Amino acid sequence: MRILIDMDEVMADAIQQFLDWYERDFGTRYTKADLHGARLRDIVPEKHRDAVAKYPHQKGFFKDLPLIAHSREVIKELNDQHEVYIASAAMEFEYSLPEKYEWLDKNFPFIHWKRRIFCGDKSVLHADVLIDDHDFNLSVFRGKPVIFSAPHNMEITKYERLHAWPDARAMFNITG
Ligand SMILES: [Mg+2]
Repeated sequence: MRILIDMDEVMADAIQQFLDWYERDFGTRYTKADLHGARLRDIVPEKHRDAVAKYPHQKGFFKDLPLIAHSREVIKELNDQHEVYIASAAMEFEYSLPEKYEWLDKNFPFIHWKRRIFCGDKSVLHADVLIDDHDFNLSVFRGKPVIFSAPHNMEITKYERLHAWPDARAMFNITG
């Protein structure tokens, strides 16, 4: 099976990076529970909004994102038994392309460069499965869409859902 896997909020915890940088800059620690599906920029004081919106445009934002729990070991198992491709939008933010590449080298060195797709619009991609946190990517995918749980998508019910990486073992018949 050919499986496309998104990076942000599926492998890499970009939301946590927003929260960590905000605490670094403004001293207030928000949590994912505080977001209630909103973006951080929508809940911070108005005078901080521009600074938060600029975070992903800054050098280093994508370089050291924390891992989504269990992503490394389960994606390794998936990669051993299926044809796994990483499909990540990396054109919008100027430093994200090299930083995402380095991040994969560091955290997912078993993903060969031939299996890394850095793109703008994912609707051109074709595969059996797409695992992604965004409805706007899943809704235009022509294979089987699988939504990966993130704070902003918990109300969406129209896709098969992966709540956490260990559940992928059953979904994709990974044998140990
Ligand atoms: Mg994503």
